[in-house]
Parts: sequence; C-alpha cells; structure tokens
Amino acid sequence: MSGREEFKRGILFSISAPSGAGKTTVANRLLERVDNLKLSVSHTTRQIREGETDGVDYYFTGVDRFMTMVENDEFLEWAEVHGNMYGTSMKSIDTALNSNAYDLLLDIDVQGADTLRARKISFASIFILPPSTEELEKRLMGRGTDTKEVVAKRLKAARSEMEQMDKFDYVIINDDLDTAVSQAMAVITAERLRPVNRRIIIK
Ligand code: 5GP
Repeated sequence: MSGREEFKRGILFSISAPSGAGKTTVANRLLERVDNLKLSVSHTTRQIREGETDGVDYYFTGVDRFMTMVENDEFLEWAEVHGNMYGTSMKSIDTALNSNAYDLLLDIDVQGADTLRARKISFASIFILPPSTEELEKRLMGRGTDTKEVVAKRLKAARSEMEQMDKFDYVIINDDLDTAVSQAMAVITAERLRPVNRRIIIK
C-alpha cells in the first residue's frame, strides 16, 4: 500500500491480580520485552521498600499530600490497598498518552480497574490468575514472612478478587511464567492493531 500515514495514540493497559499470582514478575517481563511500553508510576503512602527508588517504582507521598491531591482531583483513580493509599495521577497519564510515542501499563488493584471502567476510560484490562487456590496458598505461605492469620486474610481477599475476573478484558493463568508473559504480549499486540487505537490515512 503506498501513500499511507499513521498516527498512533497511546494505549492504556492495566494489569491486576490477587497477591501471590505473580503479577509483578509478569509486568516486569513485559516492560523489558515490549517496545514502547512504560510503567505508569503511581503515588503511594506506603513506606519505601529496600531496592525501590522514589520516582521510579512509585512517588512515595505523605498521607497529607496524598489527601490534598485527592481533594484537588489530581487522580484518575485511587484506592486503599492493604491499609495504604495508591493512586494514578492524571498528570502522568496525560503526559504519556499525548506523547504519541508509547503505551502505558498501569499496575493497579481490582478497585482501580473498577474506577477506570466507571469513569468510561478507554483501556485494556488484564487479570492474572494463579494456577489454583492451593498453589496460591503455597505461594503466600512460601514467603515465610507472614503469620497464618495474615495468609488466611490474604487468601480470602484473593478469592473475592478472583470472583471478579469476568469484568476484565483478558484473563491469563500464571501457571508457567513464559506462557503467561507471551500471552500478555499477544494481548498488547492485538490491542495495538485495533483501528480505534490507530488512525491510518490512505492517500
Ligand atoms: P505494592 O505495595 O505491593 O507495590 O502494591 C500493592 C497493590 O497496590 C498491588 O496490587 C498494586 O497493583 C496496587 N497498586 C499500585 N499502584 C496503584 C494505583 O495507582 N492504583 C491502584 N488502585 N492500585 C495500585
């Protein structure tokens, strides 16, 4: 085809999962392997962990500042997860999506994805499922850092999140990491080919 111009706008992808499903590993592999895909850096009130960098993993924000941002409507979505606040700022999305250069991956919880749907934001949502609840229990126990009660609480939360998987556009079972990553890559490729995400002008 000759005489063709294409304008691509940035696509929003979200990835959500119950804790223990291996979402962070899948997301990191995607960011390494997929061209023109960047992680949306969220704000959080939780403490910085070893190995994390402010402005790279999160914008680590005090509760007062976070609440001011909520009041000023600076978040596209925000939620309380495990006792801390997390939010995606409008600013980070706008800058990325108007750049025309890359797509954004939002690592958000199930509530965050609910908010985006309620706000009629156009995005493609991926849900990562652990292979089974037995395997999830093993993974949650395997961390070895939590008491039985904490593991039981996480499992209960995971079950209720898994019950919501039908709301997502894509569900990927993280039985084998490589398979899960290639399936997520296939989702990104497919979404990038949708006419709604590109504007092709044939001259
Ligand atoms: P962590 O503290 O382990 O980095 O993240 C805890 C949970 O918060 C994860 O499920 C993660 O997806 C979620 N999360 C991280 N950033 C955001 C955000 O901006 N919005 C929402 N709704 N959830 C987030």
